[in-house]
This record gives sequence, C-alpha cells and structure tokens, in this order.
Amino acid sequence: MYRARQETTPLESFFFKLPETFLLVFGEDLRLHLISDAWLETLGYERQEALPESFLDLLHADDRAAVAEKLAGLSAENPTLRFSARCRRVDGSCLGIIWNVSFDAARRACYASAHETAVDLRGEGAHLPDMFVDGLTGLPNRSLFLDRIEHTLHRRERRKDLNFAVLHCGIDRFKVVNHSLGHRMGDLLLMSVAGVLRDAVRPTDMVARLAGDEFGILLEDIRDVGATLLVVDRIQQKLVMPFSLDGHEVFITVSFGIVVSGDAPLAPDGILRDANLSMVQAKAHGGGNYVLFDKRMHDRAVQRMALEIDLRHALDGGQFEAYFQPIVALADRRLVGFEALARWRHPKKGLISPIEFIPIAEESGLIVPLGRWMLREACRRARDWQLRFPEHPPLSVSVNLSARQLAHPTLVDDVAASLAESGLPAALLKLEITESAMMEGAGAVVAVLERLRAMGIRLLLDDFGTGYSSLSYLHRLPIDTLKIDRSFIADMHRNPTDRHFVETIVHLAHKLGRDVVCEGVELAVQADLLAAMGVEYSQGFLHSRPVAAHEAELLIITGLNA
Ligand code: C2E
Ligand code: MG
Ligand code: MG
Repeated sequence: MYRARQETTPLESFFFKLPETFLLVFGEDLRLHLISDAWLETLGYERQEALPESFLDLLHADDRAAVAEKLAGLSAENPTLRFSARCRRVDGSCLGIIWNVSFDAARRACYASAHETAVDLRGEGAHLPDMFVDGLTGLPNRSLFLDRIEHTLHRRERRKDLNFAVLHCGIDRFKVVNHSLGHRMGDLLLMSVAGVLRDAVRPTDMVARLAGDEFGILLEDIRDVGATLLVVDRIQQKLVMPFSLDGHEVFITVSFGIVVSGDAPLAPDGILRDANLSMVQAKAHGGGNYVLFDKRMHDRAVQRMALEIDLRHALDGGQFEAYFQPIVALADRRLVGFEALARWRHPKKGLISPIEFIPIAEESGLIVPLGRWMLREACRRARDWQLRFPEHPPLSVSVNLSARQLAHPTLVDDVAASLAESGLPAALLKLEITESAMMEGAGAVVAVLERLRAMGIRLLLDDFGTGYSSLSYLHRLPIDTLKIDRSFIADMHRNPTDRHFVETIVHLAHKLGRDVVCEGVELAVQADLLAAMGVEYSQGFLHSRPVAAHEAELLIITGLNA
C-alpha cells in the first residue's frame, strides 16, 4: 500500500499495518523516506516522477523556515508537534494542512500524518493556513471542519457503505464557569476539554473547535450508531472526574447532538446545523446527555421558525394577553398579589404557552418589546385594581424578566416609565429573575438590580433550585425573596429529600433576611407543610390557575375561597 522511496529503507516494515492515509516518514535531516500513495495522488505526482528530496520541498516556500525551526525542537522529551503549513501540489496550487509530527527517538525518524487535510488554496500564497486552526486549542476550526465533512461526503459517493457521524458538542453552562472563575480559567477549561475529545477518538477522526465552547467531531468509517454512542460514552466517562485548573476543581458535563450519515442531508452546513439543533435539545434536557438527530426534530425546527415569523407580528397585532395567578399569604390564606404571565392568542393556533414562545422571543430579541409591554400591562392592571377596590389591602404584581431584558440598556428606564404612566407605587411592583439569568450577566446584572431596588421595587429569585444554585452567593445578591421551584414542591409531601431541601432553603433564606414563595402548590397537604415550615407565600393551582384579568378581578371581589 505504501511505497518506499529507497528500496532498502529499514523503516518500511513499520507501516504495513497502517490504514490508507496521508503519511510521510522522514529522517532527522528531513530527507523523505516514505510517502503514502494517498499523498502522492493528492499532490498530483505520477508514480515514476522524481519526488522531492526533503520534507521541506513539499511545502510552500514561505512556510519552510518556520517549519524547519519547529522541527528542530523535536526531541525524545518533546516528541510531538502540531502545526499548520501549506503543501505544494504539482500543478502549483496549495493545500492548507494541519500536520501532526511525532519523533521516534529510537529510530531517529519523524512520522508526519496529515489526516486533517485538504483545504484547497488556489491562488498561491493568498491565504495563510493558520486561518484554519483555532489559536487557543490548536484544533482545526469550523471552516476546516466543514471542508472535511465535504470530503467525507465525496468519499461516500464512491463508497456507499462508508458510514460517518458528525457530533456537535457543547460544554454545559460554560458561561457560568467563565463568569465565576474568570476568562483565563475558561480558556484552560476549553484546552482541557479539547484534549479529552482529541484523546477519545482515533487519529483519523477530526475534532474541531467550532465556536466558543462548541466542538465538532467527525467520526469516519463507523460501523453503526452504536459505535458513535460508545465514543460519546467514553468522553462522558472521562469527564466524571473534575478538571484541576490552577488549583481549582471544575466539574463539567457536555451535551452532544449527533447526525449519522444515513439521515444526513447532503450539504456540510446542513449536517452541522442539524447536529447543532440536536445539541440544543440535549442541553434542554438538562445537559450531560446526547440527542440523535431525527427528521421529526428537523420538522419541529421548521415549525419553530414559522412561529418566530408569526411572533414578529404578534405584538403589533395585539395578540398578547397578560394572565394573572394569585399569590397567597400562608399565615391567613389571604390574597396578597398576582404574578403576571404572558399568553399568546395565536389567530390560527389558539392560546400558546409561554414555555413555547418565550425562548423564541428570547433568542430573537423580541422579548425586549414583549417584556416592556408586559410591564406596562401588569402595572396598569394592578393600579386599576388598587383604585377600584380601595377596601382591599394593596395587591402587588410580579413580572418576569428574562436575561436578555436584564442586559438591555433601557430596562431601568422602561420600568420607571411603567410605574410613572400607571401611577403604581414602586413598592407594589416585584420583578422575578431566574438564577440562570442572574448568573449569565454576573456583575453587570447585579448593578442593574441594585438600581431597581433603590427605586423601591422588590426582587425575586425565580425557579430557585433548578439553576446553578450556590447557596454561598445568595447573601451577596440584591434579592428580597426566594421563589422555590415547583419541582421541589410537587413531591415534597411524599419525598423526604425534597422536603428536606425546601426546609433547608427556607431556613437559610430566613437567616439571610429573605422571605420565601413556593410555586406549584397543588395540594392542601403541601400548603400545610409549607405553612408549618414558616414559608410566607404560596402560589399554585390549589389557589387558582393563572386567569385573564377580568377573572382575576372576580377573585379579588369574591376572595379565593368563594
Ligand atoms: P414562572 O415564572 O416560574 O411561572 C410559573 C409557572 O408555573 C407558570 O407557567 C404557571 O402557570 C405555572 N404554575 C403555577 N402554579 C402551578 C401549579 O400548581 N402546578 C403546575 N404544574 N404549574 C403551575 P406559565 O404561565 O406556563 O409560564 C411558564 C414560564 O414562562 C414562567 O415560569 C416564566 O418563566 C415564563 N414567562 C411567562 N410569562 C413571562 C413574561 O412575561 N416574561 C418572561 N420573561 N417570562 C415569562
Ligand atoms: Mg415567575
Ligand atoms: Mg418559577
């Protein structure tokens, strides 16, 4: 399979088992001993043609000096090297190539493999090969990855039995690590993860850095899906142990989206898009998991895009409504306020849940005008009730803020405008922020929250317990109230662990001078348990579902138990 340039080379015997690939062997003097046929074919050499003498002769003239210098650094202690350099073809065009060179001290020879190859650089010297390498991790970048997928697709046209898989891999909650430990640590983590991924696959597979905390893996010549899942499993196993970064122990999980060749559409970016989509799904399941792409998922994505288009018209079309869910004081079971929850009355699809449209609004930025509208609407209604039911103690209204809204420069002004327009006292407005939104913005968010609080508005930490909860930072956040997520309430009457969690949080919150709301209270037994723990407020179907404004009015008039 391989052809030795010198008939008698002693090195020849080491290679007969290697798969067909791009492989070169050269000595310490850089003289070429062996070039694989695959290489010769790619470079355009005829079999009988005179071949270059030295490894450097294969390279673009401008790259030779730098490469020679790098190669001179190889030694028994430092036996591997990875660099990019252009390779010259017989026809004068160039290929940008990432080389892996390993030095065999015993045989005083260098083995250079270049399986991550083949970026066609027409117009010699026009591009630098470094544009295909990620500077931080040394991995191929997105362009090279796409290029390699394209090559694989071409190979598959000739060999129908060639199966491959593309994996899109993302570090779960990377932003949190990056913000809490700093960017340097984030970089170290990315490098470590790159190493784990690289080690988990064969040298002929490609691992690339696609963007930020996202990596791509191309597995070629796989038997079936099972073989791909074994690779995923191997990577997950390696990540069970924490990384030790500069004395910090960091635990991470990664999520994978997987496309296997059977389902693959025929363009590289389509494959990557589907793999990415699957990864987003895997993350939505809580991370540390994988999702195999399937056609249904693709169809759902198309539907989602259609929904996004409709969403753009929904606000102008007056299709949003604010619903209100009562919040009750557990001590005397009196109505003390409402949480405003957005509803979308779609002209064709009917009432759509915020669980469906809020994430789309968030991604597209539409959450900003929508959130502004919700704020106004909630303040207006609350003020209206205050004026119309003066005998009722003032009712507060809670409005949810998303991460994107928190980061928006006009947020504080928007809130002030809603209060001014409606005449609602600031003390009656509460803003709910989830833990993850809080962590995403870190320092900047805290500054915004402090300004809101200085206006007299109260702040709630929503869905507490589901995010990257760290009780240790709780006392530092400008938060008045913890809102314990309904997943802990659902089973607390029969699950001692959940009950214990709630109890601990309530205890801690009180010690820190915060009060507590529990959401998702559906049963009287849950409300009784919470009351006994000293929880101040309760919200859930037990008291009422979220209802339209006119029904909320009825609840104020008749009281909840009517
Ligand atoms: P959230 O802020 O945690 O709101 C509470 C959710 O729990 C509401 O879902 C409510 O209907 C539901 N819920 C209340 N009591 C119970 C119960 O006893 N059992 C069960 N199973 N569920 C209960 P909803 O209205 O579907 O809203 C879902 C999420 O959408 C909200 O979670 C909030 O994160 C988001 N959201 C809703 N409106 C807005 C908005 O105007 N802006 C933003 N940024 N997010 C919103
Ligand atoms: Mg909420
Ligand atoms: Mg919540």
